[in-house]
Amino acid sequence: MTARFPLLVLASRNSKKAREIRELLAPYGFELKSVTEFPDVSEVDEDGETFADNAAKKARETALATRHWAIGEDSGLRVDALGGAPGVYSARFSGPEATDDRNNIKLQAELASVPDGRRGAGYVCHVAVADPQGVIRLSFEDACRGRIIREARGANGFGYDPYFLVPEYHQTFGELSALVKQQLSHRARAFRRLIPELRKLFENGARESA
Ligand code: IMP
Repeated sequence: MTARFPLLVLASRNSKKAREIRELLAPYGFELKSVTEFPDVSEVDEDGETFADNAAKKARETALATRHWAIGEDSGLRVDALGGAPGVYSARFSGPEATDDRNNIKLQAELASVPDGRRGAGYVCHVAVADPQGVIRLSFEDACRGRIIREARGANGFGYDPYFLVPEYHQTFGELSALVKQQLSHRARAFRRLIPELRKLFENGARESA
């Protein structure tokens, strides 16, 4: 049986993030492979100054290396009291040997003297889609607002999730179920913008090549 839409390669090596993206796309009939299934494709250097730059670079380089459509996603945490840091450096906030724990320790140290009322933050997600020639065809960004708390709560999610409180729910992303995070998160919001446009693009492409 032929697939309804062309194969999409997801340009992410972060398995927890990739899992969330897979679940966001699952209901829509896209055929998705991870870039980790292409052993000859080297890692993309995330040296852009914005989430948009990095998402586009991941999508473009992965498309060119695999000759398939590719999805690039770049995301991170912007903390108001830190002037938007760690931003595009979220994964590497604590340096070259960064882990989620070390990043969270650094975040707490930098926010130690910031009062509870000034700990607003936003998770941001940018998603870009490149065609097999490496041309960016779609690009969307969205965010989810919250607040950075002082003590970790919950073991779900990854990264900064145990410290990211969603005020409307009185729970952190570490406490909220995967199902709720899949509705509220920056990633969910950016993919909700992307999905109808991606379907349109593929449906028009199918009509043009019919
Ligand atoms: P990227 O792979 O360069 O996009 O790195 C994203 C980094 O931002 C992750 O390593 C996390 O530190 C942080 N981040 C992005 N999205 C999330 C999320 O949904 N939960 C927790 N941390 C996130």
